[in-house]
Amino acid sequence: MTELRHARLLIGGEWVDGAERFPVYDKYTGALIGHGESASQAQVEAAVAAARRAFTGHQLAPYDRFLILTRAAALIEERRELLARTITAEAGFPSVDAQNEVSRAAQTFILSAEEGKRLAGEVVPIEAAPGHAHRMAFTIRAPRGVVCGITSFNSPLNMVAHKVAPALGAGNTVVVKPPQTTPFSAALLCQILLDAGLPPSHLHLVHGPGSQIGGWLVDHPGIDFYTFTGSTPVGQRIRASVGLRPVALELGSIAATIVCEDADLQRAATRVVQSGFRRAGQACTSTQRLFVQQGVLDDFLPRLLEAARALKVGDPHDPATVIGPMISEAEARRAERWVEEAVAEGARVLLGGTREGALMQPTILTDVTPKMRVLREEIFAPVFSVIPYGGFDEAVAQVNATPFGLAAGLFTRDVMRALNAARQLHVGVVHINEPSTSRVDLMPFAGVKDSGIGTEGPRYAMREMTEERLITASLS
Ligand code: NAD
Repeated sequence: MTELRHARLLIGGEWVDGAERFPVYDKYTGALIGHGESASQAQVEAAVAAARRAFTGHQLAPYDRFLILTRAAALIEERRELLARTITAEAGFPSVDAQNEVSRAAQTFILSAEEGKRLAGEVVPIEAAPGHAHRMAFTIRAPRGVVCGITSFNSPLNMVAHKVAPALGAGNTVVVKPPQTTPFSAALLCQILLDAGLPPSHLHLVHGPGSQIGGWLVDHPGIDFYTFTGSTPVGQRIRASVGLRPVALELGSIAATIVCEDADLQRAATRVVQSGFRRAGQACTSTQRLFVQQGVLDDFLPRLLEAARALKVGDPHDPATVIGPMISEAEARRAERWVEEAVAEGARVLLGGTREGALMQPTILTDVTPKMRVLREEIFAPVFSVIPYGGFDEAVAQVNATPFGLAAGLFTRDVMRALNAARQLHVGVVHINEPSTSRVDLMPFAGVKDSGIGTEGPRYAMREMTEERLITASLS
């Protein structure tokens, strides 16, 4: 029998019902797996007000924050199976990805605990300025206040961890809003923090439709900092609404990987299919465009297809599965439609191209042109295109020829070429001998252009989530 879950709201330390309930389904079987509670506007107000009171009334000492985050990391490990099972049901992640999500979330808490102890300002040599010999100056990093985290479905636990852990570690209080499709693992994480000893009023959880609940949060003057991960259009809307308040926006992309003629082709093939297809291609850094030097195409393509066919596709509840369903049937239909459109415009399907329910078969296209939607817009599905190139500069120029700039991968044995390309590729992250998807949680992670502003990764996020304050003292 399916265990029914209930994602309630966490406001002022109480788990409460909202204004309305919404159903949540298993992303593979379509079975009802529980309900979430959609907050009313008054509840959103109450959450922000309680977070404000906690920030002004009771700040935690840095070492207490360290202890709480460390205990939370241990509890994440202790509740690993429950969390992983929940992620598989609500997000459709196969076990390997669900387990990875849990391990990474624990890491994100450990990193945030550690970094919270190192948050320091700097000494400013003010006495060196003419006429200021009797003064001292230094900076401190002060928490911003109430941080609002809004997250997307494609990393349902670790993404919430990347918002909540650095915010709390830096001394802020938090209101978090996960997507409606994946509310349960976020709720389990909030309970973990309470069990780890976080004073209840320091963290609040609200659920509900993005345009409504998210809109109320974005318009709320009581929030000091927004950390958002999601699509570029929503990120742009948030940026336009928040005025001068600071934001970190981790947005969309059409990520690319380049395979050069001197690459280890077998390694490149194996890695690229993981990048394009794992989590059903629903990662912001999934390789969507694969540039392959035309001289090695005939050698590379059979390896690529063989590596792709080796990935078991299907039921994420089966431990052998590597590629599961997309977040919804509607999203899978959209991806299928984009593939059909490309084919009608002259593209050729090398693999896949079909769909059943929310399960989009891993799909590789070729003979694509820049006008096709599969190259122009983020597909966020297990679909990528192979694009042969002649000269290396041409490949770099094509990688850069989108409004996005999140991550790029490059396979080559030529160190000089790799490092020169790393300078030319206008993206936030360049991976040499890895594909575009290769995130480690301690890295600084940030997009450029339409892929976002602000940097994630606990150490860097904590800088964003604190204000640098200058203090001077006159000694005479
Ligand atoms: P989305 O933008 O539809 O939703 C993200 C979150 O925003 C959800 O919680 C949603 O409820 C909320 N939301 C929706 N409308 C809102 C509004 N008007 N105001 C405030 N909040 C609102 O994105 P999605 O479909 O959940 O996620 C996919 C996108 O996320 C892709 O574009 C992907 O590239 C991007 N993403 C980026 C990164 C990164 O680090 N750059 C990482 C993961 C995902």
